[in-house]
Amino acid sequence: MPTNNRAVLIVSGGMDSCVLAHYYAAAGFHLHLLSFDYGQKHVKELTYAERYINDLRTRYSQLEIAHDTIDLPIASLLTNSDSALINTEREMPHGHYTDDSMKATVVPYRNPNMLLQAATVAWNEHASVVAYAAHQGDYSQYPDCRKIFVDAFNDMLAVAMEGQKIEVESPFMRFTKAQIAQLGASLKVPFELTWSCYEGGNSGLGDQHCGICGTCVERYEAFKIAGIPDPTTYANDPEQYLHIPGK
Ligand SMILES: [Zn+2]
Repeated sequence: MPTNNRAVLIVSGGMDSCVLAHYYAAAGFHLHLLSFDYGQKHVKELTYAERYINDLRTRYSQLEIAHDTIDLPIASLLTNSDSALINTEREMPHGHYTDDSMKATVVPYRNPNMLLQAATVAWNEHASVVAYAAHQGDYSQYPDCRKIFVDAFNDMLAVAMEGQKIEVESPFMRFTKAQIAQLGASLKVPFELTWSCYEGGNSGLGDQHCGICGTCVERYEAFKIAGIPDPTTYANDPEQYLHIPGK
């Protein structure tokens, strides 16, 4: 349980992060939002984070809402990684988020790096909560989105520094992305201000999502299952990769 109403949130430009920010704002938390430029090819997402955070500030003007983007040298340290998110030689895999091919989108130690930055900020500002938006769909591919990782990270925090309790929370850990979409709709989240696509508008796609990378397919599927209008413009039809039961 949080001991005060200040939270440090890790946010990308994606819909899960945006819902996370709304979730804590609706609960009355003063927020310090942290985004990271870690050398991701879809760095375009950070401009979308700015957009939905500006919108959030107007909706929750009674709250303190700070936002910083931190440069993390993950890509430059991982010179031997063939992760498709950071290696410019590697093509982005197409298909469903849970397909084996999506292992190519894992960035080693990305979340522990970000969470440690966030915990440092939380210590500095006496915030009791650090949160990020891992969800059920991340489980199969990303080890640092699993409960066992969050528990271990909290154990590490407790012994790495004494005197101030900081708890990492991941409130959507058991949510499907469709459930996150539903929660977001109930919080009137501006999904049109979010960006998911791993292609990042590269290859001439501009402001269109590619529609066929793992996170595009997952986004499309989530809105479809949730029965919520999807404001996203996709350059290709994601239908071909859906895993909806019965399809
Ligand atoms: Zn995409």
